[in-house]
Order: sequence, then structure tokens, then C-alpha cells
Amino acid sequence: NKQVILRDYVSGFPKESDFELRTSKIRLNAAQGSKSVVVKNLYLSCDPYMRNRMRNSIGSFTPGSPITGYGVARVIGSEHPNVKIGDLVWGTTGWEEYSLITEPETLFKIEHTDVPLSYYTGILGMPGMTAYGGFYEVGSPKEGEYVFVSAASGAVGQLVGQFAKLKNCYVVGSAGSKEKVDLLKDKFGFDEAFNYKEEPDLDKALKRCLPDGIDIYFENVGGKMLDMVLLNMRLHGRIPVCGMSSQYNLEEREGAHNLFCLITKRIRMEGFTAFDYYPMYPKYLDMVLPLIREGKITYVEDIAEGLENAPAALIGLFSGRNIGKQVVLVARE
Ligand code: NDP
Repeated sequence: NKQVILRDYVSGFPKESDFELRTSKIRLNAAQGSKSVVVKNLYLSCDPYMRNRMRNSIGSFTPGSPITGYGVARVIGSEHPNVKIGDLVWGTTGWEEYSLITEPETLFKIEHTDVPLSYYTGILGMPGMTAYGGFYEVGSPKEGEYVFVSAASGAVGQLVGQFAKLKNCYVVGSAGSKEKVDLLKDKFGFDEAFNYKEEPDLDKALKRCLPDGIDIYFENVGGKMLDMVLLNMRLHGRIPVCGMSSQYNLEEREGAHNLFCLITKRIRMEGFTAFDYYPMYPKYLDMVLPLIREGKITYVEDIAEGLENAPAALIGLFSGRNIGKQVVLVARE
């Protein structure tokens, strides 16, 4: 069983040498009466939150053990009454060819296979629920509002932008390269977009793209961007705080200077996690599957082939190497 191991806790930017590829033996059948299942991993998901699990803190990965994360897998052994051999599932699995899952109740059964299976790491998985819960439930969007999304071409951002367009909002996104900016405008239908790395003054860039201000800021990056957005929020604006990827590799996190705007502009800034909305997953699928099938929503993925390329793919999230949702293909079935 080929596995990706985290060697030790990480400080600063993760490097490939923080990971090790190892081969070990695994029993391919679950122990009798254990209620566990054995899966063959097909796709693994690279997600920015995984960086926080590389720190020495509560909930971190265990050095010397395989990384764990979201994935799509085929059940090849089952001692659980509700899980059958041959079932396709998505949920938490290991960064390895085969995994023993001791809590199969946490897995979601995949019922719709007319869409790419890899989508269950993205638009039909955790990032999809993040965009859905964060935009609709936390953001409370209204038609015609001004929406700004950072890390807008990523797994979550590209969906938020498209959901906002479906709601008839005016949508602007920021991303870290010209290629990504073009994608935002040409493929995802953003009204305006800018490359934040080439803007010497983010406040000016925001004022240029959103001269009337921002009603909803979908926060993915934190740091300087958040500070400049606060200056450009409208009265009663909302900031769903999804993530702060500019802060994950810093040993000392940056503070925000313009929080006073929360008071003067009566802004609601609210953190949330995807898990908060998992009970709404069936409702989300009812909404999003027809949109995918009718081509009304599109989803861009960046698929790295082979478990051995998984560490580089994960690290690439923090330099913006990924274009769209970063996935690792482990096996084609
Ligand atoms: P992405 O696919 O957007 O990948 C990460 C992107 O972050 C990179 O491509 C890069 O894009 C951008 N980035 C990296 N470093 C920096 C930096 N220093 N400053 C600004 N941007 C940077 O990831 P996801 O869509 O999966 O995640 C987006 C955000 O949502 C993350 O903050 C993540 O932690 C959060 N999240 C939160 C969840 C929750 O439950 N609350 C669940 C899932 C995600 P670019 O080239 O444009 O800079």
C-alpha cells in the first residue's frame, strides 16, 4: 500500500521534503464485526485547511502516519450493514492507495455518476458545501448586490462567483495571475477581475472595480486584502469569513487595522465551516446537479496524476500553482 507520510510538524511554507512516500502492507478485508470498511482511493483532495493540520496543535496530523483528507473511493471490503462492496463514497480517507475506514458513517454515498467522480472532491463535495453555505446562508445575498470574492478562481471561489451571477449580483474577483483573471471573466462570468499581485494599491483596485462599494465580501485570503476591503464595504455589508490562506504559513499572523469599519458601516462579519451545512447536502445536490447537467455552472479542476505527485500538488496551493480545484488522481478504478 503506497502512502504519503508527513515526516514532522511544519513551520513556514511546506516543502516536498516534509513528506515521504512509503510502502506498507494492508489487509484488504475489514475485521469481522468491526463495522469498518476498506476502500480503494480514486481521487484525493488538496485543501488549504490541511496546512493548519501540519502544525503541532489539537487536531493535527500524526507525524509518521499517512496524511488524511477528503477523497473519492470505491468500497472493496465492508463489515458495515449500510455500506456495500462496490459502493462509491466520498469523505475522509487516507493519502494512500487503500484505506481502512473505522467510522464509515462519516462517508457520503455517491448516487450520481453521470458527472465526473472527481467533482465529489470539489463542487459536489466539501468545497461545494462551503460555497453554498457561505454565500447563501451567511452572505444572505439579494439581487443586484455588489459581491467581491478573493482567491476567486479556486475550488470555492469559482463557485461563489457563479452562484452570485445566478443571483443577478455584480461580481468581482481577485486572483494571482493573468491566466486566472482571464478564467474569471471568460469562463465563470465574473463582471470584473484583477490580479492582486500586480496591483500596487489594493484599495485603488477595489475602488476601480467596485466604485459603489461592496455588499458581500466572500473572504478567502485575509491579511492586507481584508483590510482594504473593509474600507470599501457598504452600509450593512456582510463578510462570510471562509478562510485566510495568506496567513496559514506565517508563524505570526497579521492583524487587521480597519476593523472599526464594522461599527460605522454596521457590517456583519461571520465565520463558518462547511460542516455546519452538511445537513443541507441533499438540498444542495438538488440545486447544483441540474445546473451542472444543463451547463449553467462550470467547474475547473487541476488534476495531478499519481500519489507520488500529491505533496507537490498540496504545496502548490500556497504559491497559487493550482488553476481551479486541486485534485490528485490515485487510481482510475
Ligand atoms: P483554492 O483552490 O483557492 O487554492 C488556494 C489559493 O489561495 C491559491 O490557488 C492562491 O490563489 C491563493 N493563495 C495562496 N497563497 C495566498 C496568499 N499568500 N495570498 C493570497 N492568496 C493566496 O483553495 P480553496 O478554494 O479550497 O479554499 C479557499 C479558501 O477557503 C481557503 O482560505 C480555505 O482555507 C477556505 N476554506 C474554508 C472552509 C471552511 O469550512 N470554512 C472549507 C474549504 C475552504 P491565487 O493564485 O489567486 O493567489
